[in-house]
Amino acid sequence: MEVQHKREREQQVVACMIELYCRKQHHTKGELCPDCAALLEYARARSARCPFMEHKTFCSQCPVHCYKPEMREKIRQVMRFSGPRMLLVHPGLALRHMAETLRQKLQKETQQ
Ligand SMILES: [Zn+2]
Repeated sequence: MEVQHKREREQQVVACMIELYCRKQHHTKGELCPDCAALLEYARARSARCPFMEHKTFCSQCPVHCYKPEMREKIRQVMRFSGPRMLLVHPGLALRHMAETLRQKLQKETQQ
């Protein structure tokens, strides 16, 4: 897949997840709270500059090497919360994301 397209798709999924998380956890409507807005901004910037984009399969790998600890913890919470719920909201995106995440998890487990 073309790298630019991959980047855009990744950013789209991350934005959806943060939006969902903020709406449900922080009870915002339409707009993100300042914390989540900052997280989204950070995630976008990381994704835009990610040197692994060409090789990595998806964003779930990314926080492992390039997020600073504070943001990594936040994005983990977002993914843990929104990951399963994305199935209901954006089934196509969510399924692809889950398939990738699962594949990576299995790969990691077999390597250990
Ligand atoms: Zn929020």
